Amino acid sequence: MPSCVALIVAAGRGARFGTDMPKQYQTLAGRSVLARSVEAFRHHPRVGSVRVVINPEHRDLYDRAVAGLNLGPPVSGGDTRQQSVRNGLEALASEGAPDLVLIHDGARPLVDADTIGRVIEALTDAPGAIAATPLADTLKREAAGSVAANTVVAGTVDRTGLWRARTPQGFRFPDILAAHRDAAGLDLTDDAAVAERAGLAVRLVQSNPDNLKVTHAYDLARAERLIMAELGDIRTGTGFDVHAFTEGDHVMLCGVRIPHDRGFLGHSDADVGLHALTDAILGAIGDGDIGHHFPPSDPKWRGADSAVFLRHARDLVRARGGVIAHADVTIICERPKVGPHRPAMVARIADIMEIAPDRVSVKATTTEQLGFTGRREGVAAQAAATVRLPFPKG
Ligand code: MG
Repeated sequence: MPSCVALIVAAGRGARFGTDMPKQYQTLAGRSVLARSVEAFRHHPRVGSVRVVINPEHRDLYDRAVAGLNLGPPVSGGDTRQQSVRNGLEALASEGAPDLVLIHDGARPLVDADTIGRVIEALTDAPGAIAATPLADTLKREAAGSVAANTVVAGTVDRTGLWRARTPQGFRFPDILAAHRDAAGLDLTDDAAVAERAGLAVRLVQSNPDNLKVTHAYDLARAERLIMAELGDIRTGTGFDVHAFTEGDHVMLCGVRIPHDRGFLGHSDADVGLHALTDAILGAIGDGDIGHHFPPSDPKWRGADSAVFLRHARDLVRARGGVIAHADVTIICERPKVGPHRPAMVARIADIMEIAPDRVSVKATTTEQLGFTGRREGVAAQAAATVRLPFPKG
């Protein structure tokens, strides 16, 4: 089987998107657009590895967007899309060229595995192949001199044989590298154009219809609706935890350090809020409990930041292709006072789970001085989490 690398081009500034945050780094159903684009290839059985080309000014955004994906270092892009692809190809060439390369826009997060497979398959007997969609709409040409508010049709364009070019665009690696070197300094808008210029045959293969490019803010909203429509298996889990007070000068609650005249007894940092929430998420996906994943007998977790546990539960949801839709934590104690720290707790939980803060709730209550929390012997927490998963394919 020929070796195949996916080169994800994500060096654009996103001027049309209308915010300071480039589109490839926007959050889409709990992941960055870029992470979703990368994941489509990383899990494909025919793709050996993934490299990403970025604007070096966006390195911090990139590191955050693909955290946990174990990608190699990104390649620095150039002033134009064409130059960015060239830089990526040269990097691959210097590291031992693959047989095939799939060049994909980082802002196309909804490409499916079948489309990727069709492009690769077409390369067995063509030097180039691109994902594309036949045009269904009638095409109009505007009259010369039209202004936006009063644009007039000059004529109808024959759409026979016209396709909308998408990505991935796949090529035999030595061919496209040579074509790019020969086209240096031009500003062609896709790699098929570079290949065509070099006289390479480029085959059109069907793209999945939803393989849209996130260009405007409304594309992001549409992509989110398309993803959410696939996540119809909605589950709720609950969690409960207690930790006793001991000597100390602070407690950790929902990821926030709160000065207090006692500390928590526990193996990790004993953050009851995050423990209850972690169990709620594990409950929603039917995957054991926190003690199963992080045995208290393992010295590795002594004093551990409980954010590690919550992040692990989040990653288990992601690995199933799902998202955490909502989390609700209730802290039960007389002291410390939770109220002043609530906004920080919500922000911290949202940050760890990488979801919007309006999908997180932290509440507090007492037991009216009854029982162990009423006697200020410890703190309890309960949590509910809602997770959305895809229905099994089949
Ligand atoms: Mg605990």
